[in-house]
Amino acid sequence: MAKNLSLFEEKEGRISVLLPFALGRVLDYKFDGERPEHGTFVRVPLAGRVVTGVVWEKPKEEKEVPLEKLKFIYEVLNVPTLTDEQRHFIDWVANYTISTPGNVLKMSMSSPGALKTLPTSMQYFKGKAAVDPARLTPARLQVLDVIDDGKERSIKSISKKAGVSEAVVRGLIKLGLIEGVERTKDRPYQPPDPEMKGPELNDEQKDAVTTLKAGLEKGFQPTALEGVTGSGKTEVYFEVIADILKNPENQVLVLLPEIALTGQWLERFRNRFGALPVEWHSDLGKAERRRAWRAVASGEARIIIGARSALFLPFKKLGLVVVDEEHDQSFKQEDGVIYHARDMAVVRAQLADCPIILSSATLSYETLANIERKRFSHVTLKHRYGGASFPDLTAIDMREAENPAGNWLSTALNEALKETLERGEQAMLFLNRRGYAPLTLCRTCGTRIECPNCTAWMVEHRLKRHLMCHHCGHSIPTPKFCPECGVEDSLAVCGPGVERLEEEVARLFPHAKRLVMTSDTITSPHKGAEMVARIAAGEIDIIIGTQVITKGYHFPKLTLVGVIDADIGLKGGDLRAGERTYQQLEQVSGRAGREKLKGHVYIQTYMPDNPVMAALLSGDKEVFIKSDMAQRLKFNMPPYGRLASILVSGPNLPKVEALSHELARRFPRDKGVSLFGPAQAPLARLQGRFRYRLLLKTNRKTHLQNVIRSWMKGVRPRGGIRIKIDIDPYSFL
Ligand code: ADP
Ligand code: ZN
Repeated sequence: MAKNLSLFEEKEGRISVLLPFALGRVLDYKFDGERPEHGTFVRVPLAGRVVTGVVWEKPKEEKEVPLEKLKFIYEVLNVPTLTDEQRHFIDWVANYTISTPGNVLKMSMSSPGALKTLPTSMQYFKGKAAVDPARLTPARLQVLDVIDDGKERSIKSISKKAGVSEAVVRGLIKLGLIEGVERTKDRPYQPPDPEMKGPELNDEQKDAVTTLKAGLEKGFQPTALEGVTGSGKTEVYFEVIADILKNPENQVLVLLPEIALTGQWLERFRNRFGALPVEWHSDLGKAERRRAWRAVASGEARIIIGARSALFLPFKKLGLVVVDEEHDQSFKQEDGVIYHARDMAVVRAQLADCPIILSSATLSYETLANIERKRFSHVTLKHRYGGASFPDLTAIDMREAENPAGNWLSTALNEALKETLERGEQAMLFLNRRGYAPLTLCRTCGTRIECPNCTAWMVEHRLKRHLMCHHCGHSIPTPKFCPECGVEDSLAVCGPGVERLEEEVARLFPHAKRLVMTSDTITSPHKGAEMVARIAAGEIDIIIGTQVITKGYHFPKLTLVGVIDADIGLKGGDLRAGERTYQQLEQVSGRAGREKLKGHVYIQTYMPDNPVMAALLSGDKEVFIKSDMAQRLKFNMPPYGRLASILVSGPNLPKVEALSHELARRFPRDKGVSLFGPAQAPLARLQGRFRYRLLLKTNRKTHLQNVIRSWMKGVRPRGGIRIKIDIDPYSFL
């Protein structure tokens, strides 16, 4: 219930309130009565509206408005206060990413419903008053019988169960034989049981658990858990979670990269702990969001799993953070506040002074460098669980491969598919391209159909009968005439997407049951779970999909993995192309033969001599990673040097260019700092806006953010121009 402070007219004072939008500073208000502590949610007037914010510290440098000019806060909300830790985290992230604290706070207030007064109802249970036998009628005895289990019920439900009128129940409430409490309508979460026995671990897993547990007392302690695919990393960190949950106050946060695909993980968690964790993702309905947010803030939610945004939930007492598949680039948030959830998770754990586990079969270079620097400890699992062997890898050199005209599957992969199906096993074909074909062109005039808003081709999606831009979402019905020369039936598609691959597979194996898995077909976590369950139940013979299928799955009958075009990821040629391609291919290969059946992987490539392919095929990944990281070191690139990308965009090209050049002129040249650009971005136009890029590089000793802040001081973009600053960029498009 809200407490209206204007009832107490005694003391007056000043507080600062941070509001959840880009204001750049806190606002001061007056209060009367008791001073609300930092972290308290309050409603305040602002420009004729009422907004919700949080009581915050006032930065020292800010000027004070005289007290008499300030407005009073309206009310203090009955919501758990944000902890000091959480507020420091918000300030820290804002400072690091060069965004406003208000915009970061907004991510922590991501459930508007949770901040409203919740609907409540009265619940009744057996009271403590002594029973006077003289006053007990048979009807009353029936009621006492019902409530004897101590459970909470409404009056209506007690009267129904006891078969008596509600008046009888009310009579007992008067006597104190039944007591009532006001409860919010949210159902409580079933807590996980840390005492449940987990599976028997093998020796390697036991060692890993022992090492991890030994570190738990130290407070903040980041550990990289590096285990080959199928080594049972999940069971290892489950053991650590069990340990942490034994302290009834502790909460655990697990970040997973692809929340739509966590069905298998949830099942395993329930088997291990007897209850499901609290989920946090964009697909939650309003009521579920409110329930989860409240439960995190009150400490009731013991374990939360979610994608990157779960990191900003208002934890009461965080006891452990796990980042699973820590190498995954989907942890990088690219819009709004631009941050990397893995890196910020480490900061969050440090503020909570709790351990953090970063788990992967293919650790990111950032994490490897932190191991080198002895900032992270390192635990490894080198063998697959249960004696499963690693799959055989075969490269198919597509320059020489037999490849029947018009087919995307080489003869060798085709044969392997046939044999796999004959043995009654499953196969997975990986092609990281959504839709039917990436390019449509006119055979008459040579026009390539491009997005009117972006420097990008329109991708045909045959199932939806349209062409679509993957950058802005613009779509048009698949045209019959060339939009340029008007000739009918002259349009031809180039290159394969997963839909086109599926068409070929259908032609070659008409009796095989196929399933296409991409972000277009997995429209909700529920849908994803359903697909995964069908595969696990053996209802599918061939899975065809984009990178969504490479992550974390365990399908015992899956023995063949075919990579249709291993070179796609290398083509952009950005800083991380090699690292990313290696991780992706290693992960997808890791889906094959995870139990008794032997796995086989076929990699179709036009560049079998590329160091990435050579490393995968020879099994000598360490050599590749070492030399790739040595290159980064040589050029002072991340994880050794630091980068920030500055993206200037706007509706008017000359103005974008002019501002970009002005930025370059103003750049404070200094030792240890270099600037590249400005240059037109590879994606030169996006959603109708022209784009220019500058790239800033510093050594690790330079305070990158301070350089940018002093550089940007006094820069006032006009005419719809925006400057987007991306610290530790992953996208260079
Ligand atoms: P990773 O995440 O390292 O690729 P998983 O944790 O998915 O590996 O484990 C691979 C498979 O082995 C899963 O089916 C898992 O249930 C099983 N497994 C792992 N460790 C054990 C264990 N100690 N006892 C029984 N099954 C295990
Ligand atoms: Zn577009």
